Amino acid sequence: MNTLSHRKVRVQIDNVSLAYGATKVLRDVSINIEPGEFFALLGPSGSGKSTLLRMLAGFNQPQSGSIRVDDTDITGIPPWKRDIGMVFQNYALWPHMTVAANVAFGLEERKLPREEINRRAAAALELVGLADYGSRRPNQLSGGQQQRVAVARTIAIEPKVLLLDEPLSNLDAKLRVHMRTELLALQRKLGITTIFVTHDQEEALSIADRVAVLDGGVIQQVGTPTTLFDRPVNRFIANFVGTINLVRGEVSGDGSALHFAAPLLGNRTLTVTDCRPGTAELAIRPHALKVVAAGNAPHDERLWVDGGVTEREFLGEFMRYRVDVAGTSLVADAPHFGGAGHAPGTRVQLGIDPATVNILPAA
Ligand code: ADP
Repeated sequence: MNTLSHRKVRVQIDNVSLAYGATKVLRDVSINIEPGEFFALLGPSGSGKSTLLRMLAGFNQPQSGSIRVDDTDITGIPPWKRDIGMVFQNYALWPHMTVAANVAFGLEERKLPREEINRRAAAALELVGLADYGSRRPNQLSGGQQQRVAVARTIAIEPKVLLLDEPLSNLDAKLRVHMRTELLALQRKLGITTIFVTHDQEEALSIADRVAVLDGGVIQQVGTPTTLFDRPVNRFIANFVGTINLVRGEVSGDGSALHFAAPLLGNRTLTVTDCRPGTAELAIRPHALKVVAAGNAPHDERLWVDGGVTEREFLGEFMRYRVDVAGTSLVADAPHFGGAGHAPGTRVQLGIDPATVNILPAA
């Protein structure tokens, strides 16, 4: 009995654009969000994330394009008729009302029968793990609990889609990490199609099923967290999602036999695919570079280059090196299992595994 009903819906954003005067805030944005998906809108400040979220809620209108929920075009429908629930960044709880009254508020506005209001409010509080907190006031709860009340208040309405605006940004660093897992568990329990905005790449990668990365109002890439990390499509994604080495070089050849050449490779080349001949950038994650003392490189699938350590920084789980290879400075991370590693001034060899690199269009 104590459940809320949610049918999993698809959200389809097609070629949506919005400008304020001459400022183009969203440019031809298209995203297809699967039923039941936990979807993140990620991007730096000012990239258009909140504008897009607010557009889904109906608070602003696209100048072109459409938004559909399953087969219904909701583009022109006002917010209160959309069946979409939004949790605001500041939670917007009523301080003078009890937790239970806060959760029941939206249901009362909808003039539901008292029994139904009580049932749904109790179910929502139970779902967020606050069944025993109904009589408290918001200021008697921790930040994380207040956030859960805000979520409970929204899901009590049984929306088709749940929107969360920077859901964890009001919490301190430790709680934020803890609440990630909680938020994901809750989303899974509800099974509701959920779209959240964040500027924190680690947050998006750790909990979202898929992520759309925005920059300057343009979708740069949509993919699973591992795809974004392992196969970034451009320099912006490569830099925004994690740390990366970018090395300028030249792709030559045609069709099936393409080769990347750059000064750090000497007269050897990397065999590459999925790119065009011409100037390009080799993208290598620091942890994908294997570091060994000079003369210790094994014979394996890696392409080994000689270098000299210029800096060493101990980061706990790994040692981060800066290595000069024929005038190119590379960052290489080696997992730490004890010992002091390679000191600045020593010669090392770096192994580049062709399977873990990407060739990106030159910026
Ligand atoms: P984000 O959520 O990624 O930080 P926003 O969607 O809030 O970005 O804003 C994107 C851009 O749109 C920013 O440059 C912002 O200044 C501009 N913007 C947002 N709302 C308005 C508005 N009502 N009028 C004019 N410019 C706006």
